[in-house]
Amino acid sequence: MNEPPKPAASDTSPGGARHAPDDRAGAGAAPAASGAGTVLELTRVEIAYGGIQAVKGIDLHVDRGELVCLIGANGAGKTTTLKGITGVERVKAGTIRFQGENVTGRPSFELVRKGLAMVPEGRGVFGALTIEENLAMGAYIRSDAAGIRSDIERVFDLFPRLKERRRQTAGTLSGGEQQMLAMGRALMSRPKMLLLDEPSMGLAPLMVQKVFETVRMVSAEGVTILLIEQNAKLALEVSHRGYVMESGAITLAGDAKKLLHDPAVRAAYLGEAAA
Ligand code: ATP
Repeated sequence: MNEPPKPAASDTSPGGARHAPDDRAGAGAAPAASGAGTVLELTRVEIAYGGIQAVKGIDLHVDRGELVCLIGANGAGKTTTLKGITGVERVKAGTIRFQGENVTGRPSFELVRKGLAMVPEGRGVFGALTIEENLAMGAYIRSDAAGIRSDIERVFDLFPRLKERRRQTAGTLSGGEQQMLAMGRALMSRPKMLLLDEPSMGLAPLMVQKVFETVRMVSAEGVTILLIEQNAKLALEVSHRGYVMESGAITLAGDAKKLLHDPAVRAAYLGEAAA
């Protein structure tokens, strides 16, 4: 129960595995089929608030090493989908599989133990604790002190700004730095997969750029990521594949670069006139 996590091919400890398909233009262009390397798979998932169907039977998958985004306008159902995955909202119909196991309706803490780490919207760092202490909190499911120490150093390698401020309380960090800390903290659990909920939310444009660069860097380390984002352009730029959600349904899916150049996506989400 308390033994240190075993390094595995799918282990995505900070700075650990490096098997990311980094050809963002070519990776996984077939959204309908999911293979043996599938980490997360949603099949015909439905979620309702009373009589209101917020998620209408969606299919979605994320393969090992992929960075996949779920984009869509305000109210499209992105957050509700995430809440369904993390067991916060009840899934009315359909199945959620994590590493092949049916985890539909399982509570968040159980999913974290299985290797699904979440970085919530609003970040949720502990303002009164130092950066180092926040990172250590991220490793609460582990008991390998030496491994934890070396992973903290790896997170600092990924985020040098945090290293400079390691003994500062998290409350003194800027919004973008807090977002980086939240990502670093999630990585401390040595997750198989990261769920990022709107990491650009509430950040100044320059910081938004930085945070997306960070997401890309973490992905390049081999971490499997599902990114929920309203900023369609930046999300598609850093992702391998994308799903577009509208009124609770997936309306488009596929290679992120193709979506970025899709006239319908450009018109609806990138503020361009339809061709
Ligand atoms: P945003 O980016 O604004 O969070 P979103 O794409 O994440 O948008 P959701 O928050 O998932 O969208 O909302 C999907 C739909 O469900 C919307 O019509 C919303 O009004 C509705 N909804 C969300 N939360 C609740 C709730 N707790 N009770 C009732 N309806 C809700």
